[in-house]
Amino acid sequence: MTQITLAALVAALALAAPAAAQAPATAQSLENTHPAGLDPAGMDAKIKPGDDFFAYVNGGWVAATPIPADRSAWGISAELVELTTARVADIIQTAAKAPPGSEARKIGDYYSSYLDEARIESLGLKPIQPTLARIAAIKTKKDLAAEFGRELRADVDALNSTNFDTSHLFGLWVEQDLNDPKRYAGYLLQGGLGMPDRDYYLSANAHMAADRTAYKAHIAKVLTLAGMAEPEATAQKIFDLETAIAKVHAPRAESEDVLKANNPWAMADFAKKAPGLDWTTYFAAAGLSTRPQFIVWHPKATTGEAALVASQPLATWKAYLAYHQLNDFSNVLPKAFADERFAFYGTTLSGTPQQQVRWKRAVNATNGALGEAVGKLYVAEYFPPEQKAKVQAMVADLIAAFRVRIDKLDWMAPATKAEAKRKLSTLKVGVGYPDRWIDYSGLKVVAGDALGNAQRAELFEYRRNLAKFGHPVDRGEWSMTPQTVNAVNLPVKNALNFPAAILQPPDFDARNPVAMNFAATGATIGHEVSHSFDDQGAMFNADGQLKNWWTPADLAHFQASGKALAEQYSKYRPFPDITLNGEQMLSENIADIAGLNAAYDAYRIANGGKEGPPLNGVSGDRQFFMAFAHSWRTKTREALARQRAVTDGHAPAEFRADTVRNMDAWYAAFDVKPGEKLYLAPAERVRIW
Ligand SMILES: [Zn+2]
Repeated sequence: MTQITLAALVAALALAAPAAAQAPATAQSLENTHPAGLDPAGMDAKIKPGDDFFAYVNGGWVAATPIPADRSAWGISAELVELTTARVADIIQTAAKAPPGSEARKIGDYYSSYLDEARIESLGLKPIQPTLARIAAIKTKKDLAAEFGRELRADVDALNSTNFDTSHLFGLWVEQDLNDPKRYAGYLLQGGLGMPDRDYYLSANAHMAADRTAYKAHIAKVLTLAGMAEPEATAQKIFDLETAIAKVHAPRAESEDVLKANNPWAMADFAKKAPGLDWTTYFAAAGLSTRPQFIVWHPKATTGEAALVASQPLATWKAYLAYHQLNDFSNVLPKAFADERFAFYGTTLSGTPQQQVRWKRAVNATNGALGEAVGKLYVAEYFPPEQKAKVQAMVADLIAAFRVRIDKLDWMAPATKAEAKRKLSTLKVGVGYPDRWIDYSGLKVVAGDALGNAQRAELFEYRRNLAKFGHPVDRGEWSMTPQTVNAVNLPVKNALNFPAAILQPPDFDARNPVAMNFAATGATIGHEVSHSFDDQGAMFNADGQLKNWWTPADLAHFQASGKALAEQYSKYRPFPDITLNGEQMLSENIADIAGLNAAYDAYRIANGGKEGPPLNGVSGDRQFFMAFAHSWRTKTREALARQRAVTDGHAPAEFRADTVRNMDAWYAAFDVKPGEKLYLAPAERVRIW
């Protein structure tokens, strides 16, 4: 549901800078120095807007801007991530001086422990030894089930940040129940892979075959570094086991199908439907024995993985568990582990040549462990109330524009329109930061214990989620931190989060004409609002219940439009051997069209129903479309672009900029003619909202 992806952010953050830059940025670089207005120098005026709109607006910038060596992608979002990281580092250093035991001091201690590479080096494998010894002591499949249960974490999210990737056997997500809005459900998702998706293990594509060879070598290297016996032979066994897991995994497109995912299993169902794993022992070790049921998101994978627990040798599972512990915590193990992890995940899988400097990784890790504690300090410094009020006013305009668009739809039944408007009125739009902050008093942070801190933070997050059971659903809870450069729709809660860090120049700039702000930030808001009304949103009513509120005729029209859009995107080729999967990206592409349309209406409403005034000779409508394409200004390394084409629900940025070809106003603004590459005849332009 996210506008950018988590993978993109992680990749953007997982980048390196020159080794000399081992100290955090100075205070001077904490200012947002982005100039106001359009950026003529970043354009490529030789290109016709109708041939390649992304390149017309961004071609000059693309040609002149290298991707920094420590980055797998670079652009506006990455720049804001960089600025925000420097600001957060500054905040953390102040926090480090707070009294011991305070929340601020936890932030400081977490960061400095992570940063202290000399100490991490001197401790060697000692901090992870108890975990490895626990795994080594496993003697039976019952012990194994207990270990799987002990390792369960709240590290996946099926509908909000859409993160389906966990190296644990399964992942837990705690969110409002799809079938009963008044309570929380525990969702159990497939897991267990070390590479990002089953395709990496199974696809015949030559790039993925090469990734497999590299991954096997990576496993062997990790085992070698840990001094394990027969690393090559063991790596082969672990790799074969993961390949067997991949074979029972649901593909990404299926993971996104909520109707296939709504499978409530009572406790007693697990042994019957997924024999092979001692579920009683598993749930007891996970602290979940008293749960009456779970929603099993991937039933076939759950059955398949449980069967593998029974059929595969205990010794292989033990080696697999030890490897994953080392692999998951590599960044807080000696440098050789962290470097090896980056060599595979950073360079091989994402194409990034150089690892990010330690302090940036430490900021990232602190954000992961104590995100809202950091966010509280960030907001106090960088998100004044007047900024929040301005964005809230834009949100109100956008929602008004949606209301009008719904009224005007000729294909939607009156009853459906009424429910759509009810859903708009109950939509909870969060701007900047959450209503209430997470209480971190239960998290113990020990100075000098980087690995222990990381383990305790994961466990704290897990227990925090378990504690939600039995309490009313908190619709004000956020799934992103305020210092995240992104935005998200939470479909089950019928809520949106717009973090403070994305609400700054160049995307949102109070100095710019409203046309530009509505295109860059308003289209993002519209994108997220529209998720409440897209193919996913149509399945959740105003209360967040999984209950389709459309008539069959509404749905038929919507699906036909969706099919046309999927076909439009399936024709795009980011590389000669790859076409985009329009089905996999359909929800996001619909949201892009709907968001852009609503943003256009809202900008016109804000100008009294007329085109906005020109800026340096550029018409209001041109400003609008150019600011939209500008907001997608990004360059991505090939390896990461290939990874995203498989795992991402979003189209690559340059194709998202081309959303404009579905809007009549774009043709008028740039005089786009038949024969130009992006030209679509009026009947081929997809109009959904
Ligand atoms: Zn989205």
